[in-house]
Amino acid sequence: MTNFADLGLSETTLQALRDVGYEKPSPIQEQAIPPLLEGRDVIGQAQTGTGKTAAFGLPMVEQVDPAVSEIQALVLTPTRELCIQVTQALRSYGKPKGIDVVAVFGGAPIRTQQTQLRSGHVVVGTVGRVLDLISRNSLVLHDTRYVVLDEADEMLDLGFLEDVERILKLTPNGRQTALFSATMPPPIRKLADRYLYDPELIKVEAETLTIDTVEQFQLEVKQADKPAKLVEVLKAERPDQAIVFVRTKVRCDQLNRTLGDKGLNVKALHGDMSQGARDGVMLAFKGGRLPILVATDVAARGLDISTVTHVVNYDVPTSPDVYAHRIGRTGRMGKKGRAITFAEPRQSKEMEAIEKHIGTSIAPWTPDARVEPAPVRERPRRHTKPRVSRNGDEPYVTLLSRGGAADGLDVSDLVHVVTEKAKLDGEAVRDVQMLQRFAILSVPADQAERVVAEVSGTTVKGTRLELEPART
Ligand code: AMP
Repeated sequence: MTNFADLGLSETTLQALRDVGYEKPSPIQEQAIPPLLEGRDVIGQAQTGTGKTAAFGLPMVEQVDPAVSEIQALVLTPTRELCIQVTQALRSYGKPKGIDVVAVFGGAPIRTQQTQLRSGHVVVGTVGRVLDLISRNSLVLHDTRYVVLDEADEMLDLGFLEDVERILKLTPNGRQTALFSATMPPPIRKLADRYLYDPELIKVEAETLTIDTVEQFQLEVKQADKPAKLVEVLKAERPDQAIVFVRTKVRCDQLNRTLGDKGLNVKALHGDMSQGARDGVMLAFKGGRLPILVATDVAARGLDISTVTHVVNYDVPTSPDVYAHRIGRTGRMGKKGRAITFAEPRQSKEMEAIEKHIGTSIAPWTPDARVEPAPVRERPRRHTKPRVSRNGDEPYVTLLSRGGAADGLDVSDLVHVVTEKAKLDGEAVRDVQMLQRFAILSVPADQAERVVAEVSGTTVKGTRLELEPART
């Protein structure tokens, strides 16, 4: 097995990898990092979830000189959501070296981005905003020797390819270019032929996992009856180890307390806990000393424990993919598992969507009920597509968030947390303004309540965000 050190990365970059906790390179990283470090162009056919960001980001960090205050590298993304995600990743990879990564995307004030560009080394931007900044002379690409086109097929779908070409033409001829795309339709091949020089082709399939050893059940239960029902289910099922999934971290803490009060050996796991506290809970659970874990989706990502016998969806998952991901926490390594989903009477639509996804109906739970496991495909994660059909006519509301520029927060921090926590489309968060102590943002009116609930209480860079509707 290859290590990151074998790939030719510097000690500073290896330090960044230790800080983010990556232990081994993923296949795309193993294949793409050496040629990129040699200065070769690369075409990577890979989806989100394969580790492609680090595959191009780590060599990029190696090639950027923090002492030179020019934009030395550019990453073009089709959507704002991806832009923010890539920015966060590159910031963590470039941190020990002192590399300044600037995110530029539409829907946020251009002035702030213009100011940030003056001191940046790397720009990650959506196509439209990058062109806009170039036309205002705020972004100059004379010294941009490393260019990445990320999710090129999405750029094609969104009609950005001509703009991408315009941008490429403004970069030096001797630049190094990497193109990443999940699929390779002819226009992307043509673009690659025209703008990449003798590229190394790398193709990586994201793993699809089929979960086929999990018996699945559902249980109709009113919100108010959920705690008692859960105790009943746990008593009847007698799990060796169970993960109980809840929608928000507030509910996670509440349920943890309720179950603890009833004398159950249980702990909570969510993203707002300190790293130390999270590690403690993880270790106890992995070591089999903790039978019941109450967790949010984000916190439980990557939990890979073969002794989990039960998954309880205390709250209905937000999508069939999340459902597959949750129930895949049990039935691992060929072992049997049971998954029980609590559905409120008003949630029959969500349950139908899940049943459609798995291609069979989910049987009602009763004590001792048995069913044949239905195979469920756990798809690799993919970014949500922007809803380009949105024409801006739908009602939006303005929210106010405690926490601002004086707390070291920037627009991308806020958009990132809203898209992550509230599972909102990146493009749906608009008009974000960072004031000194507050931030203002607009979200679709029908999502506002959820955004306030999911995001409030989240700590970002040491500041606790509190959202509320702005009084207008
Ligand atoms: P990406 O495909 O670049 O969106 O990455 C998918 C996820 O995998 C991200 O959450 C990364 O932080 C994580 N990741 C990337 N490379 C590694 C690695 N070598 N080890 C562990 N996690 C990784």
